[in-house]
Amino acid sequence: MGKVINIHTGRERTIQTFDCSICDSKFSENETGLQRGIIGSTIVSLCPICLSGIFNLTDYLKQHMSIEE
Ligand SMILES: [Zn+2]
Repeated sequence: MGKVINIHTGRERTIQTFDCSICDSKFSENETGLQRGIIGSTIVSLCPICLSGIFNLTDYLKQHMSIEE
């Protein structure tokens, strides 16, 4: 967790951080990652880069996998 101090009021505010389930980097609640999601029965957090990578992967797979019925 990180702390932000308002220099005008002196008030402290704690910024919650999350550990990415793929690359283990920390990201804050202010970033666009997935903070607490569920894949199957596993709780995951994804940093902005890994979340973007998941979207790219699914886009690629949608385009390149043929659906046979
Ligand atoms: Zn990551």
